[in-house]
Amino acid sequence: MELKLYNTLTRQKEIFNPLKAGEAGIYTCGPTVYHYAHIGNMRTYIAEDILVRALNHFRYKVKRVMNITDVGHLTSDSDTGEDKMEVGAKREGKSAWDVAKFYTEAFMKDYRSLNCLPADVLCPATEYIKEMIDLNLVLEKKGFAYRISDGIYFDTAKLPDYGKLAGKGHIEGIQEGARVEVNSEKRNPADFALWKFSSPEEHRQMEWDSPWGKGFPGWHLECSAMAMKHLGDTIDIHCGGEDHVAVHHTNEIAQSEGATGKPFADYWMHIRFLVTNDAGKMSKSSGEFLTLPLLAQKGFDPLAYRYFCFSAHYRKQLEFSWESVDSSQKSLEGLRAIVAKLKEEAGGQAAGKDERFQEFYRDFDNALADDLNVSQALAVLWGALRSPFGAAERLAFALEADKVLALDLDRAPVQEALAPELAALIKEREAARKAKDFKRSDELRKELSDKGVLIEDTPKGTTWKISRG
Ligand code: AMP
Ligand code: ZN
Repeated sequence: MELKLYNTLTRQKEIFNPLKAGEAGIYTCGPTVYHYAHIGNMRTYIAEDILVRALNHFRYKVKRVMNITDVGHLTSDSDTGEDKMEVGAKREGKSAWDVAKFYTEAFMKDYRSLNCLPADVLCPATEYIKEMIDLNLVLEKKGFAYRISDGIYFDTAKLPDYGKLAGKGHIEGIQEGARVEVNSEKRNPADFALWKFSSPEEHRQMEWDSPWGKGFPGWHLECSAMAMKHLGDTIDIHCGGEDHVAVHHTNEIAQSEGATGKPFADYWMHIRFLVTNDAGKMSKSSGEFLTLPLLAQKGFDPLAYRYFCFSAHYRKQLEFSWESVDSSQKSLEGLRAIVAKLKEEAGGQAAGKDERFQEFYRDFDNALADDLNVSQALAVLWGALRSPFGAAERLAFALEADKVLALDLDRAPVQEALAPELAALIKEREAARKAKDFKRSDELRKELSDKGVLIEDTPKGTTWKISRG
């Protein structure tokens, strides 16, 4: 199966052709750990997880590297403002190191609850300062780096194709923006910091000695250094949210390609933002955002959020609403209930090899291979489950599909808590049935149904479910 991915660099879908046959090296920009991750961030990690799982499904051996940005990400993308970690430390009255530790753990908890596969290498930026300094030395030797009063900067005019990822008009946009910018010592408006000096007034908690003076690395330098350290000069796929195209990834390319003279990544995958209908995009820095624990407090399974993310292609903006997450939760519970039923019906039978049923497998693969069209893959699963084929066949397909969708479809559906008076009515009805008082039993069934509880008598006993109607 040929996997096609949309490549931001070439602005088209391309057949994935890795550097080494059968292997895929992936770098995904990780969280800036100065606050909780919001559900918008998690949309990006879910989409990246689908990429990894789809590659596994198509039998690629994946090596995925993800960083933890625990230093150097400034409050403004144009190298001004404070380090977000220091902002977090002031906000919470803790050390920047403790803030990083706390929010890294919180992030990993959310990440795992969404069934996102762990990265093969998880690298905190603060553990790679030496690699960053070494990369800077190469850039300096090659004439890309220059010094101004607040740090060492990259001279973007020295790289003829600077800005190729964001495309035409990108440099002009930065020049426009630069008119209001403060740092006038830079040679070109798009130039960016490789290493920033600690300023005497600032009293930074995180700083290191370097050949240029005490300070800290630029955010872009971190990802270039760690990606190349673990995946080599050229990597197969580099991912991140859409906001990274114009600045962060553009500058990663500049540093890495400036240093090695080789392409940095062959495929660039960018996930569009989750937005909220009232406030536009979610923003960590504003402090007002939705998190997975908040969704859980309202009774939502994190995997219902994962399911909700499958409702739009990763290259389309996705609008959050409580109603949509609620309906995703119901659909997910519906899927789990079908799988539970199929398990009972199949009762250990092996799946047959009906050629007509094999179409579902092909359609599922085709959907994934078409730039990870997971909404379509999910639609194929629903189609297969509703089809008239054998229970064992349908069950096997659901379990196979779930290796990619990772919705825990074989988890027993939740038995919702029932108000005690309703539970008492069910008990009374069971007693009436036992006593063969069918008139009373029917009255009680009607009463329960009027109160939204549907009763079903099966050979194994009486079951109930809450009516959604
Ligand atoms: P950060 O923790 O801010 O460094 O961001 C972590 C990841 O989340 C990056 O890949 C961002 O591009 C991505 N991201 C940030 N905001 C959103 C959003 N609203 N929707 C989807 N992805 C986002
Ligand atoms: Zn990055």
